[in-house]
Amino acid sequence: MSILVIAEYNAEIDLSNLRKSVKAAQLIGSTIDILVTGADTSAFAAAASHINGVNQVVVVKDSVLGQPLAENHALVITKFSADYEHFIFAATSWGKDVAPRVAGSLDVAQFSDVIDIESADVFVRPIYAGNAMAKVKACCAKKVLTIRGTAFSEAELSDTAAAVTVLKQSADAGLSSFVSEELSKSERPSITAASIIISGGRGMQNGENFSILERVADKLGAAIGASRAAVDAGFVPNDMQIGQTGKVVAPNLYIAVGISGAIQHLAGMKDSKVIVAINKDEDAPIFQIADYGLVGDLFDIMPELEAAL
Ligand code: FAD
Repeated sequence: MSILVIAEYNAEIDLSNLRKSVKAAQLIGSTIDILVTGADTSAFAAAASHINGVNQVVVVKDSVLGQPLAENHALVITKFSADYEHFIFAATSWGKDVAPRVAGSLDVAQFSDVIDIESADVFVRPIYAGNAMAKVKACCAKKVLTIRGTAFSEAELSDTAAAVTVLKQSADAGLSSFVSEELSKSERPSITAASIIISGGRGMQNGENFSILERVADKLGAAIGASRAAVDAGFVPNDMQIGQTGKVVAPNLYIAVGISGAIQHLAGMKDSKVIVAINKDEDAPIFQIADYGLVGDLFDIMPELEAAL
């Protein structure tokens, strides 16, 4: 039985999440196929076919798959259930939307946020906001996994391309229809791809003060994140939230500004390579995991940092 790695199509042809999912699949060690579901995915599928270790790329095309409606994509993926034992998704918003529907259709449990694969049926995943690791053994024949991207490196690219098979299928589950979408556009790198992130918390006091972080971010080429308190207070939009109920990141450098370091925030950033904390409270828990801590008022420190840069 083979492994089906499900690709999340994007027009930018960013293969990072897909390559990490393939890397995870390689730890299971049987034949790896990639499934791309979409409306016009030829360039994406061609790029994906160069991921090392992939047997073939299967493309399912239908106009309704041009939108990320989970019901339709899950319907298509479930049709492949007879041919595969493992179904691997990246633990992105889309993956977390589609995977449970596939698991539900197959009547099996889902293994979420997998950070290590010990064998074909033993997986490691964080529980209690990352304070403990659970080693779980699958008892069902079919395994549906979401993979935490920060825990896996990207599979290599190869000069040779795997075969690409295109199937045309009717994919309308008839359960949802696309109305509209509002995409946030930013010149900055995305939070999940950035190698440097500066995050602001409740200590920023309001949304306007995030411009202090933006000026430093511009000099460093950094992305900007936030704590949930900052999001809940309306300072910044919720796609910037990092933590247990936000995005999970592991950049080379994470600068936490006016963030106390609640476990739910740490769950989303504690695997960052170097952590810098700026906080006026020397007892703030963020200092316990920080590599560098600056105790002081962020409204003094951040302009100094900007000037120094
Ligand atoms: P606070 O805890 O209020 O900390 C503000 C910090 O700013 C303080 O340490 C203070 O000393 C410092 N400060 C204030 N003024 C200044 C200044 N002028 N200069 C320097 N420092 C200053 N939180 C997340 O972040 N992400 C999540 O995904 C998340 N998920 C959650 C899920 C659940 C189920 C629950 C219950 C909670 C979750 N939370 C999450 C919330 C979390 O528990 C905390 O409430 C939140 O992280 C606190 O945000 P904060 O550190 O910005 O605010």
